[in-house]
This record gives sequence, structure tokens and C-alpha cells, in this order.
Amino acid sequence: MPNLMMSISGIRGVIGDGLTPQLIVNFTQAFGTYLGGGKIVVGRDSRVTGPMVKHAVMAGLISTGCDVVDIGVCPTPTVQMAVMNLKARGGIAITASHNPIEWNALKLLDSSGMFLDEVQGNNVIKAVNEAKFRNVAWDQIGKSEIYEQAIDDHIKAILKLNLVNPDQIAKRKYKVVVDCVNGAGGTILPALLQQLGCEAIFINGEPTGLFSHKPEPLAENLTELCEVVKAEKADIGFAVDPDVDRLAIISEQGKPFGEEYTLTAAVNYVLSKKDGPIVVNASVSQAVDDLAVKFNTRVYRTKVGEIYVAQKMKEVKAAIGGEGNGGVILPELHLGRDAPLAIALILMQLAESGTKASELHLSLPQYFQAKNRIELKELDVSSVLDGLLKKYQTEKTDTIDGIKILWPDRWVHIRPSNTEPIIRVYSEAKTMEEAEALGFQLIQDVKQLLKSK
Ligand code: MG
Repeated sequence: MPNLMMSISGIRGVIGDGLTPQLIVNFTQAFGTYLGGGKIVVGRDSRVTGPMVKHAVMAGLISTGCDVVDIGVCPTPTVQMAVMNLKARGGIAITASHNPIEWNALKLLDSSGMFLDEVQGNNVIKAVNEAKFRNVAWDQIGKSEIYEQAIDDHIKAILKLNLVNPDQIAKRKYKVVVDCVNGAGGTILPALLQQLGCEAIFINGEPTGLFSHKPEPLAENLTELCEVVKAEKADIGFAVDPDVDRLAIISEQGKPFGEEYTLTAAVNYVLSKKDGPIVVNASVSQAVDDLAVKFNTRVYRTKVGEIYVAQKMKEVKAAIGGEGNGGVILPELHLGRDAPLAIALILMQLAESGTKASELHLSLPQYFQAKNRIELKELDVSSVLDGLLKKYQTEKTDTIDGIKILWPDRWVHIRPSNTEPIIRVYSEAKTMEEAEALGFQLIQDVKQLLKSK
């Protein structure tokens, strides 16, 4: 993976080896120039490089006449909500999300708290490349202030949702174990769970930025959490990534639901309460299609990426949406993935049904997903995708993002990564063996096509 990448969603890189303060200043000058001044909310995750990056960000923004509202260490969804609540012109979340500790990044937000779309993002990139920055005079330079209520505002907004009844959850007196991997989760989840009347045990709860294990909330990184859930005889376990937009769930038996099942469970609860379509990306489990049939609604699919899902949700007035990596989006809160929200929705579903977490998991449509990748020497794979389309022309295919080939009870999705020279091959079926076999078959097809190029 290259050590520095600029895309429509922002800039990310390795600190000390690619992502320098000079680049960060230039990038934020470009963003400030593009916005033409105004109030900008800045928040960051707990990474140890966060203060350095934040100071560069503030210098860049203030020099273009933007006023910075610094909301401190917090989840990315808290930054998104603060942009809306404080009526800001934009926002920057300083976080490399689930990337390893040496990485940091800027995620840019527009005035609705959504990530920049392709047009907006390309305008910022153009401004970076042209390097014609708005350098205002001394008497027009921006101000900075600290706003300490953003996390409280976020919690209050979750507890006020029609879909969340804090008293109903509190009556169950749930015992919950939470792994925050020393990310920003520790700044919001203790207060949220306290207000939901839960007895919460935190592991890796201090937001030190010194991640105690690999920060992506995948089952293989959550063995400690699974052990503690069992040892403590807890009702459920939760894990979040460093910027708290992804949630993984562990049953009372210490077994991971699997990352796809956070969104599946949330969809199941939300659609039992309100009408409207579902919006998910092309790789999300077929379980949501089964739920759409159950609740008599439809599923819209988009390219992979939060902004594509969020935009489509807005367009079709979705009831709920998200991504299969544990990212749940509820439009009445905000159009971004939100793990604290997802925790409240899952606890609501348990409280209302009176079931155990393991029973909730088993009550959902059961599918298994295999995630594979093929390393490439080059990024241009269009001829390979064309070859696959031809080979599978008699099957049902979808080309919204790469190629997805669908059968009634299984599918495979082949998609070139936007950031790395790899092809992602995701396959899903009713058993893991079938999913792996399907993925293996397509990997062989791709390798054959690469050879014949
Ligand atoms: Mg994240």
C-alpha cells in the first residue's frame, strides 16, 4: 500500500513517511479556499499523532479565514452531528479509521455533515494541485474556539430517537462488555451505556491511541473481548473501531455475530418500527434482501463507500441503510455510519424481544461471506472484468461496482480496490464451504483472464 493517498474523501498517509504537516496545511488551505471561509468543526480520534495533525489543520483553515470549532477527541459520527448542530459550513474528522497506528488521515465533511461527494472532493483536489490558496490579511484571519458539548449532544440525540426507549433498555439491567481498542469509543460509550442503565465493563477503554490489538473490529482481532464476555457472564459484547463508526457484536456465549450481522440486526429492528426502503452497498449480505421481503419493502444497492450509500438514502428517503462492515446509518439521526447509534438499536431489539443475543443472531437470515483478494501488478483490470462478464453472460449480473454475479441463494462480487493494487473477491452462500468454493472458482477465472492478457 502506498504511504500517501489523496481521494475525494480526503488525504491519508503514514506519519513520518508520507503524511507531513506541510501536506496537511496545504490540503486544509485548499479545503478552506474551496469553502471560502465560515465555521468548520474539527474533531479527532485518539491517535498519538492527532495533536500534531490537528494543529496543522487549524493553521491551514484559519489562514484562509475559516473559524475553527475544536470539539476534541471524539467519534467521526460526533463530528458529523456537530457540523449539523452548530450549523457549520463543513467539518474535518482527523482519523485513519481502522488503519494501523502509524496512519492518520483527514475525512472532509460538507455543511450537512456528509462526506464530500465526487464533485466536491474533486474540487478540493483541484485546489490542492493548483495551490492557489486564499491567504487572508491579519485582520480577517479566522478564530478558534473549543466546544466541549459535542459528545453530550450526540448521546442526547440518540436517546431522543423515537426508535430508542432508554427506560425499556434500563429495565433489563444488561451487563455489557465493550472493547474500544483505545480509540475514541472511550469518550462516548461509558456515558451512553450508563444512561441506558447498563452495567458496562470496558476493555481497552482509555483513549490513549495506543491500540492494544489490530484496530479493525474483525472477529480474529476480538478474542480478548469474547473471553471477557464469557468470563463475566455478560449479556452481550460490543467492539468499535478507533473512530467509532463500525460496530461488531459478540453473543453472551462469546461468539462473534460476524460483521455483516450488525447491519442485518439493525435493519430487522428498524423495519419492524417504520416503513421505507433499505440502501446498502453492493457487497452487503443477501440477508437484507430476505428482510426486505419479510417487511414488504425494497433494497437499493450502491457502490462501496459511505457517501454513495448516504446519498442514495437521501434520494429515496430510506428507512435505514449502511455497510456490511458494521456501519449502520439512520437518516433521522444523520447520514453517516454511527456505532453508538447501532449499540442503542441492538439493545432496544433485545429489550423488546426479551431474547438473548445468541437467539437474536440465529433469528436472522443465515448467510456466510468469504472475503478474498487477488494481488495485482497493475490497477487497470477492465479487460478482466469484461472477460468475466462474457464468461457469466447467461447468469444474472450487476455492474454497479465491478461485477457481481447472482444466483438465487448465493453471489460473488469482484471489485478492484480504489486504493490498493488488488481485486477484492467477496462471495456469499448458505454455508461457509459453499462461499469459499465460489470465491475460489472466481479467483481461478480472474487468474486465467490475467494470464491471457
Ligand atoms: Mg471507522
